[in-house]
Amino acid sequence: MLNHPRLAMDLNNVACQWLGGAGVKGNGLERTMTDPTTAQSYGSVPDASSVQVDHAVELARWALPDWSATFPGARARVLFRLADLIEARADDLASVEAVNVGKPVAQARRDAGRAADYFRFYAGCCDKLNGETIPLGPDQTALTVPEPIGVSAHIIPWNYPLSTLARGVAPALAVGTTVVAKPPELTPFTAVMVAQLALEAGVPDGAFNVVTGGGEIGAALAGHPDVDQVTFTGSTATGRKVMQAASAPVADVSLELGGKSPVIVLGDANMEDAAEGVLRGIFFNAGQVCAAGSRLICTRDIHDALIERVAEKAKAMQMGHPLDNPDLGPLASRAQLDRVQGYVNGATKAGSEPVLGGIPTAPSDYPDGYFYPPTIFADVSPDAEIAREEVFGPVLTTFLCDDADHALALANGCEFGLVAGVYSRDSTTALRLARRLHAGQVFVNGFLNAGDTVPFGGVKHSGIGREKGLAGLDTYVARKSIILNHPG
Ligand code: NAD
Repeated sequence: MLNHPRLAMDLNNVACQWLGGAGVKGNGLERTMTDPTTAQSYGSVPDASSVQVDHAVELARWALPDWSATFPGARARVLFRLADLIEARADDLASVEAVNVGKPVAQARRDAGRAADYFRFYAGCCDKLNGETIPLGPDQTALTVPEPIGVSAHIIPWNYPLSTLARGVAPALAVGTTVVAKPPELTPFTAVMVAQLALEAGVPDGAFNVVTGGGEIGAALAGHPDVDQVTFTGSTATGRKVMQAASAPVADVSLELGGKSPVIVLGDANMEDAAEGVLRGIFFNAGQVCAAGSRLICTRDIHDALIERVAEKAKAMQMGHPLDNPDLGPLASRAQLDRVQGYVNGATKAGSEPVLGGIPTAPSDYPDGYFYPPTIFADVSPDAEIAREEVFGPVLTTFLCDDADHALALANGCEFGLVAGVYSRDSTTALRLARRLHAGQVFVNGFLNAGDTVPFGGVKHSGIGREKGLAGLDTYVARKSIILNHPG
């Protein structure tokens, strides 16, 4: 039984597997759910069993011929309805996501709106998926026909469970692919809520299934012999395992992995804009953001003044219960808190002292919660562990640079390549840097403010493939070439 003291909604209705258009009891491990704000357990959720994973894939395979043959306009109407239903239930979805992840409720409400927007955007694409014709001389014509890739598996991380689910499932369903999704074990509920709404919207039974559970269930799905494509969003370490598992059935993979994103601020930048961008870039969702701007690279002339400005704003950030909409909620789990503190301890042991934060501090009403305050390490060596590895918490490291070229070398001297930022009033320099930065997305004079219609994804160890925007459709499409011979 699940009973969360701050939620009006009954979670028992969404603590299930979603197989063939119905809620089904899990047959696997019972997983205790812990509230990150209070460290109190509020019940348990049964995982799927491996037999249920097989069944989910079977159902998706069974539903594929009908869903892929549904007229594009009819698929669009279903997905537009789903977007409307998500919007109508956005407050419930946001409350569940907020208490699960520890995310301030306004941020969770924004994620629910983004989920609706993904379905709406891709609903609009259903009947605009065109192929091409390729003339091969007078006697031959080739056509390309975009066809659904088949059965698509979606493995989701805990920091943005709802919006990440929608980001992948919406384009998959739009092109006629069928889906088995595995939400994160920490935050399984909103995926099942969306699947319930999908049924109400008219997504046919079996076209969108959900199996809950941890790494074993993800691994069973990633290496399943009857899965054609795997969309994985999570850490680089797990992404490697997924890629390996998917190699057995030679399934296509899209990997949206970790980051260590640089924000370059040059001496001529608008200081207030840069401070706001840096602040939001690292402390939004308590830094548990793949694209977090965790490396600030700043010219010497303005470094100290900029840090002072960012630190002042960070000090004013309030921590509290996610449903009371603070600036920062708790980190999502005890393991995440330990991970962040581990990196901070490693940095102090190596001789760095934080100029801000660095000690777990919980608000007095929630002394046992997994809170971590905004933390800044200034002028860090680029070789330090905290400078190279993804902390995934509210920890900013800063680096001094001499000029734009030095900044570029520091920014690119990292194995990740998800997002980057450049602040400079000199548009030629900014564009030169943007073109040379190793990243899938580069922001100039702003940070993480693109919305969700712009392609997103990593280079280097940050991943393979692109999601969002029109590029997000390609992941779920197999283009068939048909060659017509018409001699004489
Ligand atoms: P994680 O890699 O631990 O887990 C992600 C998902 O994979 C979970 O659902 C988990 O159950 C599942 N999983 C675990 N082991 C598996 C295995 N062997 N095979 C298949 N699935 C398995 O990541 P996390 O801690 O949940 O999320 C944080 C990470 O996700 C960070 O590195 C962050 O940068 C990354 N992330 C990336 C993006 C992006 O778009 N690039 C977005 C959000 C998060």
